Amino acid sequence: MSYILADGWLITMNAKREVLESASVCVAGDRVAAIGTRTQMVERYPEAEVIDCAGKIVMPGMVNTHTHLFQTLLKGLGDDMVLKRWFTCMTGPSAIHLTADDARAAAMHGCVESIRGGVTTVLDFMYAHPKPGMIAAVVGAFEETGVRGFVCRGFASMGEEYGTPPELIETPEKAMGDAREQIRRFNKPGGRVQVGVACNMIWTVDEEGYRQTRKLADEEKVLVTTHIGETVFELETSAAKYGKTDTEFLSDIGFLGPDVVAAHCVHCTTDDIRLLLKHDVKVSNNPCSNQYLASGCAPIPEMLKAGLTVGLASDGPASSNNHSMIQAMKFAALQQKGVHQDAEIITAETVLEMATIGGARAVGLEGEIGSIEVGKKADIAVVDYDNAWMTPIHHPVSALVYSALGHEVVTVLIDGEIVMRDGVVRSVEERAVRRSAQLHADALTARAGTDAFKRRAWRSATV
Ligand SMILES: [Zn+2]
Repeated sequence: MSYILADGWLITMNAKREVLESASVCVAGDRVAAIGTRTQMVERYPEAEVIDCAGKIVMPGMVNTHTHLFQTLLKGLGDDMVLKRWFTCMTGPSAIHLTADDARAAAMHGCVESIRGGVTTVLDFMYAHPKPGMIAAVVGAFEETGVRGFVCRGFASMGEEYGTPPELIETPEKAMGDAREQIRRFNKPGGRVQVGVACNMIWTVDEEGYRQTRKLADEEKVLVTTHIGETVFELETSAAKYGKTDTEFLSDIGFLGPDVVAAHCVHCTTDDIRLLLKHDVKVSNNPCSNQYLASGCAPIPEMLKAGLTVGLASDGPASSNNHSMIQAMKFAALQQKGVHQDAEIITAETVLEMATIGGARAVGLEGEIGSIEVGKKADIAVVDYDNAWMTPIHHPVSALVYSALGHEVVTVLIDGEIVMRDGVVRSVEERAVRRSAQLHADALTARAGTDAFKRRAWRSATV
């Protein structure tokens, strides 16, 4: 199929960062075929279906560089806790009761939520494997919903002394054996869905775990992700065990490299930033989660100044409570301005770069996605600004980052396929997906005994 997205306000995110008024984009097959005026496009591609985008922003689909899709079932259970307590009391106990059906229901809903928010690529960090079939469940959700996805097979190899549930602890051999099996089962060259590998963090993975993950990533040439410097607790445990920061430790053992997406990096020092740059590690910024869990504020301006690649992310919905990248952009800008008391420290354009081309670079796909340019994949979001909060509009980037609430996306294309049109998700039946997510969420909460976290103080009662 071919389409002409006609007369939109086009944010290209190309090298010149051109923003074009009344521009038309022709999509042929899975690629952007041409950009020009409506007349030019219709003349050149008379067979293409015209989708009128007047009064709408046409932008690259966003890249969410860090989430845990299974946590879609845990929204709102982790309020008012710091990460360690949140993980050991609520998220960990929930994860050990997860079934493959739960993981599928969560991932389906997480993908629908992503599409609705203009996200076309998702990096899922899947560390809960109490039962087999979790990776296949996420892969299936990516395939069915049409989302471009990476699912990185994560694990914990230690950490019981810190409260990691023993059911989540696996030997590196077992975890990497399973990862290799899933990679060989699902990865095809240039495939829309890819399996990668992941290590949880410094207090749940031992040196051997990191070494084996690096070895497998090198052998299979897949994406790697991990949490780095998220909380003070991570830095304290790293200092106690290794006498250095987690970044220094991971650099010393040869774990870091250009294929690593390091989530958070909140407590990275200037020396850590130098090491991340040396190894060309990609940083995933998670401002909503970092504030929700009171983790802190990542030194993003310093990282950008140093030349690091920074992508944006929602993090799992147990610590950000949705998958909205539009909200994440606003938080990413406001957090830095507030913490530094410097209005110019970061701009709307910079956070939009993180959400699009920066994220694409982070996952190694900057040649394919992250901008709307001829020859690139047609991963595109159309945003309607004819609503109370985005109008009056003077500039689309400012309106997207600061005025939008996150649900203004009306049409989404991934790989040239329309997965949502005029507000209707077309790849799956959205209400059924949502109902299934609620049922699985209720059942999981009951099984895991995390009902207690349903609003502790203002607990609802039946009338
Ligand atoms: Zn995470």
